[in-house]
Amino acid sequence: MKKQFSDKELYILRNNLPIRYLIEVILAIPSKFVENVFRFLCPLCSEFYTAAVPGNNTVQCFTCKKNFNTIDITIAAKKSDFVSSVLFLKEVYEKYTKLKTNDDYQQSSIKGPTNNIIPSSKPKSIDDVMNNSSNPLITAIYTPSQIILNLKKMEKKLDILIEDIRQIKEVLDVKVC
Ligand SMILES: [Zn+2]
Repeated sequence: MKKQFSDKELYILRNNLPIRYLIEVILAIPSKFVENVFRFLCPLCSEFYTAAVPGNNTVQCFTCKKNFNTIDITIAAKKSDFVSSVLFLKEVYEKYTKLKTNDDYQQSSIKGPTNNIIPSSKPKSIDDVMNNSSNPLITAIYTPSQIILNLKKMEKKLDILIEDIRQIKEVLDVKVC
């Protein structure tokens, strides 16, 4: 019998579709951050004694003593079988890759019970900070204290810039004289 899905296809769905995005946004499984640890409501036992397994895009339930990859969690949450779950994930993945190119994923994945920033979404330069500040979604991404922190960082960068300009001006003034 010919396999319905190739190994490569399954590998991509297990590894390249972020499981937190799947849990929070797609499957809408209740989830929260407790002391910076991601917890989701286990679809099998309805407990929050769960966590993400670092590094391999899986999550685990300590009560059920079970690991879930993206396919397992979809089967459990939707109470569906393997084939329909994989078909569902293929559609999700297609949309996800489009979202990712539009750079919407970072924002759409934040809504929900958590205010935590995904580290890679942090602005890297002052330009990013300036660009983001005109975005109404910024309030959905940053808590007030994070905004203040960013503003303080900007202030520091501006101070350095002002000092640079002052020094350049000094040099120029000397030359003019
Ligand atoms: Zn469980």
